[in-house]
Amino acid sequence: MTTQPARGLSLTDDIRYLPGVGPKRAADLGRLGIRRVGDLLEHLPSRHERHESRVIEDLDEGIVATVTGRITTVRSSFGRRGPTISATLIDNTGKCRLAWFNAPWMQGCVRQGMIVRATGRVTEFRQSAQLTNPKIVAIDEDDSEISTGETRLEGVYPAIAAISSRAIGKLIATNLDHMLQQVSEWYTQTYMDQRSLPPRRWALRVIHGPTNQKEVERARRRLAYDELLLMQLAVGLVRFHRRRQASATPMSCPDEYDRRIRRRFPFTLTKAQDRAVEAIVSDLTRARPMSRLLQGDVGCGKTVVALYAALLAVANKLQVAIMAPTELLADQHARTIRQYLEGSRVRHDLLIGGLPARRRRDILDRIASGDLDIVVGTHALLQGDVHFDRLGLVIVDEQHRFGVRQRAGIRGKGPTPHYLLMTATPIPRTLAMTVFGDLDVTTIDQLPPGRSRIQTRIVNPAQQQLAWEFVRDRLDHGEQAFVVYPLIDESDKLELRAAATEYDRLAKSVFPNHRVGLLHGRMSTVQREAVMADFTARRVHLLVATTVVEVGIDVPNATCMVIEHAERYGLSQLHQLRGRIGRGQAQGHCLLMTGDDASSEHHRLGILTATTDGFRIAEEDLRLRGPGEMLGTRQHGLPQLRVADLLQDGDLLRMAQRDAGDLLREDSQLRREEHRLLRTMLMDKYKAGLAFIDAG
Ligand code: ADP
Ligand code: MG
Repeated sequence: MTTQPARGLSLTDDIRYLPGVGPKRAADLGRLGIRRVGDLLEHLPSRHERHESRVIEDLDEGIVATVTGRITTVRSSFGRRGPTISATLIDNTGKCRLAWFNAPWMQGCVRQGMIVRATGRVTEFRQSAQLTNPKIVAIDEDDSEISTGETRLEGVYPAIAAISSRAIGKLIATNLDHMLQQVSEWYTQTYMDQRSLPPRRWALRVIHGPTNQKEVERARRRLAYDELLLMQLAVGLVRFHRRRQASATPMSCPDEYDRRIRRRFPFTLTKAQDRAVEAIVSDLTRARPMSRLLQGDVGCGKTVVALYAALLAVANKLQVAIMAPTELLADQHARTIRQYLEGSRVRHDLLIGGLPARRRRDILDRIASGDLDIVVGTHALLQGDVHFDRLGLVIVDEQHRFGVRQRAGIRGKGPTPHYLLMTATPIPRTLAMTVFGDLDVTTIDQLPPGRSRIQTRIVNPAQQQLAWEFVRDRLDHGEQAFVVYPLIDESDKLELRAAATEYDRLAKSVFPNHRVGLLHGRMSTVQREAVMADFTARRVHLLVATTVVEVGIDVPNATCMVIEHAERYGLSQLHQLRGRIGRGQAQGHCLLMTGDDASSEHHRLGILTATTDGFRIAEEDLRLRGPGEMLGTRQHGLPQLRVADLLQDGDLLRMAQRDAGDLLREDSQLRREEHRLLRTMLMDKYKAGLAFIDAG
């Protein structure tokens, strides 16, 4: 938004040179992400507080009011309501009482002679007005804002101890005019009129110094739109660049291939699977590399669809890489593939860390010579010594766990392969547009026939014995169960010990008559394989596991899952976990055990008992935890949205997406003069992500 300022500081200058800042303050502001003058202008209030200012003689009982005046007396006493601090406050119209109950520390906060702004509910005390437990803010002697008698909105800014919201507000207010002078409009008047957007300068002025809520909303909408448009432009540019640059080997898909591939599956594909296959085949038969995200609830049959794509590639004499986020999952995929491909000539293998050097060498050679058709692995597939002979398709499972950088990593290898991502964490549409905005999205919205709904119940500490008895009963019926124990970090020794202790306890005292196994991410591949094999073959009845069971593990006879400390997980993750059960015909049961003081969690977890719709759960998760948290880490590589709210601003997002598309169609690199400002803003915000575009 910078144009050259007529005089003084420009928005790109270091914040330290702003009047009233200096090096110490600049360091504090830096911790809030405010480094340049323009960052201060864009440091927006997270909300606005309403202050109904009143003069003392106009105070009405029952309202919440703000009064500004001078403290004349301060007393402390001990009454029926405990220790009481009271003070007398006067303005030009009268006096009132301020009273704090059970807050002895207030004694140190008010003194005679201070000028304060007090906000609280008005009550009556001995026929005069009193503010009960008011919030007070000390006001400078020369402050001009003493009791005016109007309603004001005051911005509450994100702040830290070293620099308060109020101090930030003041700094902004002092410099607002100067900063606003340098703000140029991004759009033409017609553009704004068509979208009912106010000017950017107006929006920034209002958001920092609003007079009413309606204006705040109008201003916020404009700023949110700007933010979303930049994001969609960035996403669009990445996509454009990728497509222009790359070409892939187009495959062919005659009926004969289709029949041969389908014969591999012991069931007919669901309608939803057919639709997904159709979309993928249409991508694969083009010379433009596919970038498709396949999403759908756990158990909806994504793996099968991905395997269809893989076999089509193999039929076209191309190699396929399948990557999973953990070795356990890679192993699971390899097993599944082995089952489906039994008796076929397709050559496949598993490449994971910790293989004996010779075996690894051998696999690498076969990849390089083209003797392997399908390679399943983890990140190891990204390592420098893996060279494919003719890689045609890359399939990535649980995409959200891979960072954007890793995505780029495989892209860089060899001729451009087609690219299929899968995720079983359904992502709300709005979020998918931001995080995966550069991908086409296909959703499988139907489960294979014959699945029974999973019953989910919340178990409080008092009911735990009953829960274990319930599980024991299922085991006695020949079914199997998981007990999931939370490990935030598989490398945390203390946590690991807690899980192991719980395993001992369950094996010895709770399920002495059943075989109990333990599975966690720190075990060696061989150990884990052994445990999984035992569980699959029903030699182990109850499997105590960390969240490594989260995805992909497929044991139809497992009907029960107990999740300990369920309150520690996100809703989507719990949904994901319970997707491991109820995969067969028998009714699945999921028991969410909560800790002692988790009653507040019951409401949040309640949605899991109410619905099995992964999308609804994901939306709720997004609402409660925000996009960064929801995706596990902030690894999605996009700056956090500061103004726009993905749940509330779905319409703005769609508008921004459409507009960004139109803009780029007209001017694919934003080179035109009228787009120069947008381009500058874009480069400023998305530097790293758009490194391939020359900044000129
Ligand atoms: P996802 O990867 O989406 O979690 P999977 O592909 O692993 O789902 O499929 C889950 C289970 O459903 C597997 O046991 C699979 O064999 C079975 N399955 C998949 N598609 C069908 C179908 N069309 N009809 C019957 N069973 C299916
Ligand atoms: Mg799967």
